[in-house]
Amino acid sequence: TVRVRFAPSPTGALHIGGVRTALYNYLFARKTGGKFLLRIEDTDQARFVPGAEEYIQEALAWLGISPEESPWHPGDCGPYRQSERKPMYMQYALDLIEKGHAYYAFDTAEELEAMRERLTAARVVSPQYNSITRTQMKNSLTLSEEEVKTRLASGEPYVIRIKIPRKEEVRLHDMIRGWVVVHSSTLDDKVLMKSDGMPTYHLANIVDDHLMKITHVIRGEEWLPSAPLHVLLYRYLGWEDTMPQFAHLPLLLKPDGNGKLSKRDAEKQGFPIFPMDWKDPVTGETAMGFREAGYLPEAVLNFLAFLGWNPGDERELFTLDELVEAFSIERIGKSGTKFDINKAKWYNEQYLREKTDAELGAFLKADIEKDGLGISEDKAAKIAHIMKDRVTFPQDIWRDSKFMLIAPTTFDQEVASKKWNQEAVSVLTQYIEELEGYTEEFSPEAAKALIEKAAETVGLKLGKVMQAVRLAVTGMGGGPDLMAVFSIIGKEELTKRIKFALQ
Ligand code: GLU
Repeated sequence: TVRVRFAPSPTGALHIGGVRTALYNYLFARKTGGKFLLRIEDTDQARFVPGAEEYIQEALAWLGISPEESPWHPGDCGPYRQSERKPMYMQYALDLIEKGHAYYAFDTAEELEAMRERLTAARVVSPQYNSITRTQMKNSLTLSEEEVKTRLASGEPYVIRIKIPRKEEVRLHDMIRGWVVVHSSTLDDKVLMKSDGMPTYHLANIVDDHLMKITHVIRGEEWLPSAPLHVLLYRYLGWEDTMPQFAHLPLLLKPDGNGKLSKRDAEKQGFPIFPMDWKDPVTGETAMGFREAGYLPEAVLNFLAFLGWNPGDERELFTLDELVEAFSIERIGKSGTKFDINKAKWYNEQYLREKTDAELGAFLKADIEKDGLGISEDKAAKIAHIMKDRVTFPQDIWRDSKFMLIAPTTFDQEVASKKWNQEAVSVLTQYIEELEGYTEEFSPEAAKALIEKAAETVGLKLGKVMQAVRLAVTGMGGGPDLMAVFSIIGKEELTKRIKFALQ
């Protein structure tokens, strides 16, 4: 059965690209009836940021794509944090040494630096520890067996490096990119075990994917260059038969398509690229998230799903279940995909409209109360109803409907200069009278019938004065359905406002 994993490193806020990786893994697992795991890759303790793990957990929960196995919901393959798996890795590194595919290296930081300088001086473009340079360094390939033993016994710090073959083609099949062939001369002898006894990402990732029975590795394109090394590790560890299939997701590009999306792009242009607000506990830096900006999880899911995938037909709106149904790795593109925040806004508008009046009304009521005002649930729902297809975010409802609760004291001058005239004054004066004589329920239909009657009585065409009527009651030249506005504001308040405007 399919087992996939999301393997974030808790080094800060989860970027939206990471959430997309999690989503695609989640969709693939559910589509195939498999399992979706989350593993925390925290072998680089220097880069560990407190709170990052909780952030990942909460962000995925907010989107409804929580993993089935994780540090906080362990399955049979625990622990799910690499730092807690520390004792498991050394045996595999030693196994590789035994088989001649890895070696101890004792070089100090200064010696490594000196090597790099030597190579740079010799105009080597990217200085590497590899089949050529390792012959000049202090490692178990150049030192005598005796000497290696002595150094190890004396507790001298060492790392374990993979021994990359000199001339070999490493081939790997990527489900998205097809065959990828890399020559081993471009790879270096990556460290597998660090001097603090912790494995590096590469070793830990392969050992864990194997022990956790991962069948498919779906991750960002930035990991493609590491994949050949990973293939060699599977081979040398004798796990090639059960090596997972790879699928490297296309890069997320800046909105203009020029280069990789970064946090700075977001900051410059004022759009979020994190699922939720983030405050870095170390630097105190804050960053805006989709959740706090007013995006609905449904909208973010759709937006993310389409960043690199498409269903192959015209459909644009998918529930999570529908995404599962439609998803396939075959329909993921190879080329980078532009991050267009306007698309996210569009999705949000669509999903906002699907919310009930009561849901949005409750949101509006809370916003109104934050401003120290009050409103009934019923009235809030009515306002939400007439506003919801005019806004992008839930908080826009109150921003754009303040006039419903607060009578205007100023009037749009431009509209007034064009539309305010004697005709409007006479219709409105007559309307006050009609309102006074009316005692039944003040529905939008009633509001309309009464103003039509007023216009008729004074012998004027309603259409010509309508914008002035709106101006008198709301202070603005445009807005939601005016008769609905009148009905919600109510007869008394309406009369008061018109009288004020007529002064
Ligand atoms: N820890 C890596 C990351 O932070 C995981 C890469 C992978 O999925 O292999 O993205």
